Amino acid sequence: MKSFGYAAHSATTPLVPFDYEHREPGPKDVHIAIDFCGICHSDIHQARNEWGNAMYPMVPGHEIVGTVKAVGAGVTKFKVGDTAAIGCMVDSCRICPSCKDGEEQYCDNQATVFTYNSKDKQGNLTFGGYGDNIVADESFVLKVPSNLDPAAAAPLLCAGITTYSPLKHWAAGPGKKVGVVGLGGLGHMALKFSHAFGAHTVQFTTSANKVEDAKKLGADEVILTKEAGWAAKHAGTFDLIIDCVSADHDVNSYLSLLKRNGVLCTVGVPEDPIKIAAFSILGRRTFTGSMIGGIAETQEMLDFCSQHNIVSDIEMTTYAKLDEAWDRVVKGDVKYRFVLDAKTLKA
Ligand code: NAP
Ligand code: ZN
Ligand code: ZN
Repeated sequence: MKSFGYAAHSATTPLVPFDYEHREPGPKDVHIAIDFCGICHSDIHQARNEWGNAMYPMVPGHEIVGTVKAVGAGVTKFKVGDTAAIGCMVDSCRICPSCKDGEEQYCDNQATVFTYNSKDKQGNLTFGGYGDNIVADESFVLKVPSNLDPAAAAPLLCAGITTYSPLKHWAAGPGKKVGVVGLGGLGHMALKFSHAFGAHTVQFTTSANKVEDAKKLGADEVILTKEAGWAAKHAGTFDLIIDCVSADHDVNSYLSLLKRNGVLCTVGVPEDPIKIAAFSILGRRTFTGSMIGGIAETQEMLDFCSQHNIVSDIEMTTYAKLDEAWDRVVKGDVKYRFVLDAKTLKA
């Protein structure tokens, strides 16, 4: 199927208009006309080959909401005209223990097919949400509840599920003290979810101009980490910290804040390896990570958002301003997620 979008052709050149093909929908496939796509920091890391795994041409984008244009004869979950969404994955082996457990992102056969910068089962490069169309098996397509604004729901497909999943896994809730590091796309969703789950939620930020916002978004406390000695008075008090920072920073300070058996989970993926001092974790503290979330949990998260009226705080942008938007994401200057409007693709 002829498609049009924006692609990176190398690590050092800006995205440019690009014609490409998606497969024609098969019996179990859903063809979605893309309406909105969020800009995730992972799009930038990958297009610039900061994780060393880039395949070009790369059409980024994995926070996709659109309208179903066509369905294959065997599709049961969707009909033409539905609002549907695709996140970070479009397929997996489906038979290994992780896939059977609904944790397709951790496929034991390393057969997770990511929405872009990945190869599908036929060996074709996948193309993501910075375009007009996408085709995927209905098992990897999500239903968008009708009370959610579709543009503001788009970032739930990555920023939302990536923070919802570890908060659920480590039981953020009443009686727990939870920290969120970095108030960006992921961080602001972690803050909203932790607050909604009833945990005492503390936002850490390097940006003085985000302190008041953090309180409005649900933080019980906000700690500005630019101030010298900020960590000492909070040492040993946290049950769980979700680190959403995209760049190099000192995680040892955050490890010092954990109680015995406390958990620091990174969802941020900085380019360089993270340095941990052994003394930071000898207090039986856990340093771990988490990657997006399974398809069933993603639908659970969307339904939770529907019940609790949670969406992302977004700034709409256009393809003409894509470079500027990426620059602002890198500077931490977005409140709190850019969303591309597909209507501006050909403008
Ligand atoms: P983002 O919107 O750019 O937010 C990152 C935030 O980190 C910034 O807003 C800023 O918050 C803080 N920050 C940035 N540079 C910093 C520095 N040098 N030192 C300290 N703090 C800094 O990015 P995002 O889209 O939320 O993504 C965050 C990270 O998660 C990225 O690395 C991304 O690739 C990764 N990610 C992982 C998964 C997964 O499955 N694990 C999924 C999606 C994204 P303050 O201004 O508040 O300090
Ligand atoms: Zn993402
Ligand atoms: Zn599998």
